[in-house]
Amino acid sequence: MINTGCTVLKEDGVLTACTNRQGLCGYACCQFGEGNWIMLLPGEYELALQQGLKMDHLDCENKQHAVCRSPCQTGDLKPIDCAWYPLFPANRDATKFLVADHRKCPIPNRELIEKMMATHVSALAWERRYPGSLGQMVASSRHFVGYMPFPYKIENGTVTNMTAEEMQAISLPKEFPRNYICKEWMHVESGYTAIATPEDNEE
Ligand code: SF4
Ligand code: SF4
Repeated sequence: MINTGCTVLKEDGVLTACTNRQGLCGYACCQFGEGNWIMLLPGEYELALQQGLKMDHLDCENKQHAVCRSPCQTGDLKPIDCAWYPLFPANRDATKFLVADHRKCPIPNRELIEKMMATHVSALAWERRYPGSLGQMVASSRHFVGYMPFPYKIENGTVTNMTAEEMQAISLPKEFPRNYICKEWMHVESGYTAIATPEDNEE
């Protein structure tokens, strides 16, 4: 996505690991046929209005819940949730994360560790700007569709593996069906499961 929108933090969220895989996924994360939706962070809608970012491409149910109807372009709001994708904070310290089901987003977990660190910093900065927002975001994300627990976490400033119990504790009540096939993918490619890609399984 070259001519993309911009977040209220003046970021485009472009990630090489994502760009390299768009020929496979067909921009699956920008489609909303599975009950998935975009979270606008507390204060984000108002900030986008102040900054004059256009939101015509978004269908906002309210100031926190939207779906996207057409590709964002220069001058449009790209929600921070889109820039953080395929990760989303799963606790109030933003040290544990959800990751998109890998049958939808084909980026291997291990290529998302750097993004996890960046999302941690970004989420804590948002919390400082809007105190209490991380708790609200984590609570609302329990209604997300198509996310699984991310197998890494941040502990004492370093990256380590999540335990099975920790993964279970942040898993969402609603998952894609066992036989889910993403209809946006450009071709069928085997080895992708809800929790891992073929590259993850090589470890
Ligand atoms: S589904 Fe994943 S790889 Fe595809 S465009 Fe979205 S973030 Fe990038
Ligand atoms: S605003 Fe729409 S097109 Fe842009 S990244 Fe988000 S879902 Fe995709």
